[in-house]
Amino acid sequence: MAAITRLVKRASPSLSVSSTAARRLFCSESSSHAPPQDHFHAPQRKDPKDRNVQWVFLGCPGVGKGTYASRLCNLIGVPHIATGDLVRHELASKGPLSSQLSEIVNQGKLVSDEIIISLLSKRLADGEAKGESGFILDGFPRTISQAEILERVIDIDLVVNLKLQEEALLAKCLGRRICNQCGGNFNVASIDIKGENGSPGMFMAPLLPPAHCMSKLITRSDDTEAVVKERLRIYNEMSKPVEEFYRSRGKLLEFNLPGGIPESWPKLLQALNLDDYEEKRSAAA
Ligand SMILES: [Zn+2]
Repeated sequence: MAAITRLVKRASPSLSVSSTAARRLFCSESSSHAPPQDHFHAPQRKDPKDRNVQWVFLGCPGVGKGTYASRLCNLIGVPHIATGDLVRHELASKGPLSSQLSEIVNQGKLVSDEIIISLLSKRLADGEAKGESGFILDGFPRTISQAEILERVIDIDLVVNLKLQEEALLAKCLGRRICNQCGGNFNVASIDIKGENGSPGMFMAPLLPPAHCMSKLITRSDDTEAVVKERLRIYNEMSKPVEEFYRSRGKLLEFNLPGGIPESWPKLLQALNLDDYEEKRSAAA
């Protein structure tokens, strides 16, 4: 996966600060001994039947892609790699990129390709070393240049684009709460949209915490209405080319969430041809 970092360095020679940061993250790599192009080796591409799935989940912030991606990862036994988590981990651990990151995140802006790619490369390399096979990427690629870099170094089998109507999405984002003791994620929004003019209605029950968490709920500082709307605007603007990139390669699966988890989960499994997977697995256990 260090190949990703090398590709970025080749593509963006002017980004010396990020390249240095990326190199720091990859100090065990030998790439610093020679010009990267001389030492470039694409990682071995494995036949899909010799590895687990390599999927990407797309969807705007708050659509629930983290929830669905992590459920699927548990079901099929692959790591759930969320770039948002990588960023938060870097911030919390006061890693080399943390001060740059906190400024960007607090303004509700997108983190640059170079930073995301350094964090992701490190995560994939660590996983490979531990013998992980396959993955579901959540929140990556976010830009066309990230998608191109990814395409050059690893095979993506399928890209699932999760969608939710805007009204429900905004309510859901503003209803997010985190327990500051156990770290649990909850949602206090109760969504009940009446169907009209042929568009279906939607009901999503709140995801309330257990009683002992109730008094410890906090709202993430970037979950204000202004920041959420700005995040959605940026997302929509940037995601279209990424969707098109995968659509033109026949890899994009569009999935309109019909409601909350109870309504959506079985339909998602159906769309992924995994609807009998759960039964088979529990029968085999
Ligand atoms: Zn709690």
